[in-house]
Amino acid sequence: MSTALHLDLNDRALLRDQLLIGGEWVDGAAGARDDVTDPATGGLVGQVAAGTRADARRAIELADAAQRDWGRTPAKTRSRILRAWHDLIVEHVDDLAILLTAEQGKPLAESRGEILYGATFIEWYAEEAKRAYGEVIPSPADGRRLLTLRKPIGVVAAITPWNFPMAMIARKAAPALAAGCTIVIKPAPTTPLSALALGELAQRAGVPAGVLSIVCGPAEEVGGELAESPLVRKITFTGSTPVGKLLMTQAAQTVKRVSLELGGNAPFIVFDDADLDVAVRGAIDSKFRNAGQTCVCANRILVQDGIHDAFVERFAAATAALQVGNGFDDGVEQGPLIDDRALAKVRDHIEDAVTHGASVVVGGDAHELGGTFFQPTVLTGATPAMRIAVDETFGPVAPVFRFTTEEEAVELANATESGLAAYFCTQDLGRAWRVGEALEFGVVGVNTGLISYEGAPFGGVKQSGLGREGSRHGLDDFLEISYLCIDGLGV
Ligand code: NAP
Repeated sequence: MSTALHLDLNDRALLRDQLLIGGEWVDGAAGARDDVTDPATGGLVGQVAAGTRADARRAIELADAAQRDWGRTPAKTRSRILRAWHDLIVEHVDDLAILLTAEQGKPLAESRGEILYGATFIEWYAEEAKRAYGEVIPSPADGRRLLTLRKPIGVVAAITPWNFPMAMIARKAAPALAAGCTIVIKPAPTTPLSALALGELAQRAGVPAGVLSIVCGPAEEVGGELAESPLVRKITFTGSTPVGKLLMTQAAQTVKRVSLELGGNAPFIVFDDADLDVAVRGAIDSKFRNAGQTCVCANRILVQDGIHDAFVERFAAATAALQVGNGFDDGVEQGPLIDDRALAKVRDHIEDAVTHGASVVVGGDAHELGGTFFQPTVLTGATPAMRIAVDETFGPVAPVFRFTTEEEAVELANATESGLAAYFCTQDLGRAWRVGEALEFGVVGVNTGLISYEGAPFGGVKQSGLGREGSRHGLDDFLEISYLCIDGLGV
């Protein structure tokens, strides 16, 4: 691989630059390559083979050919392979973190966190592989026995985004492989290196040829083939809501199962009775992780009258103290945005908010580091009329909305087509129940801004998606129920 940036890896074999198809590392059929750049410097990290529709088709065909044997492989064997994959990822966490920060920009500590978080899904589903139980149904008649089997759904296509280039793949591949499905993955073109390194470790862990393939390349070609192929029985997608809708339409032509983890517009509500330290810590964690480029990050901070000024003062101070810089530098808490388009959206949301009456309390402008670095920003006086209230900013901007009553807060929070994550802070147990039940979101954090855990179901309602990842429920999305009615048993 040609690398402009020297990546100091212990195991340089993790730096893969080809497609993984049918257990072999190959160039794309057209011989094209895509640049991978470091968002912190704009420098070239490397070049990776760009696949075509034909490459995707071949990966799907080989996945289909491998499906039968993988589906019949004893659950315990699949479990052991997944466990070996998990262990290798943990062993190589430092190298994987370097690759992730180089192509994505997030601080090295966050990259390590993402890798270890992603690995927990592989560990979890290594266990769950052994628990895909069927059931015996009480018989309605003599001589008959009724039961259900849970079978792998078949070839799975996974399409993943750049903001969590490792964890989003782990969350999909682990339950797919555990259920006995083969999988073809299309990573985001901005961040293919993390995906390919995972592929290398999957090979070393003993994932058989064809069971896990990775095809980088243009969305229309590679994504199009994955969505349209009749051999693919399920699409699992994490990304934007418009692309999710498109994939759902395409998948309808062959009636594929669809799991979608789409955009969010998370409210973070601070009630008068909140513990101020907890509220400020939670809002910082939720808002500024990955420079605000997470689907679960607080997009709207709703603060009750009585605590508003005290919260804004403390929150603004904590925001101003965040260290912005290259993710490889010590102590950095916020890296660059992924690209110029992301930067433009952040600017647009701030300009629109200010035009409609918001005030900038902290930040509000590009960072002196230049490029796509942006100042962590707090706005006050935000209202539902602003673009920032309805659209996911996906950047380090925290607009504070003021409210008076609990009912008003719940109404404001639910006034969105999204329904992924929501947060609120209160010390009143009754309120915790009431508001927890009234919020129309798939994931709700109370007195915390960090909610992810492999044993808990993650996913959205409304236009934030379909299906759940993680937990025992996550396996169901990769299994079909098959009902067996056996007659003539004489019992
Ligand atoms: P995106 O533009 O939807 O892209 C996601 C993936 O879909 C990329 O691999 C992209 O490839 C591919 N893609 C785009 N158009 C496609 C098409 N027509 N057919 C097949 N594949 C296609 O989203 P993003 O900007 O990378 O990610 C940010 C979004 O993801 C945000 O909205 C965020 O909220 C959401 N997200 C949701 C979750 C969740 O769990 N709910 C988690 C993380 C992120 P190309 O780049 O080649 O187009």
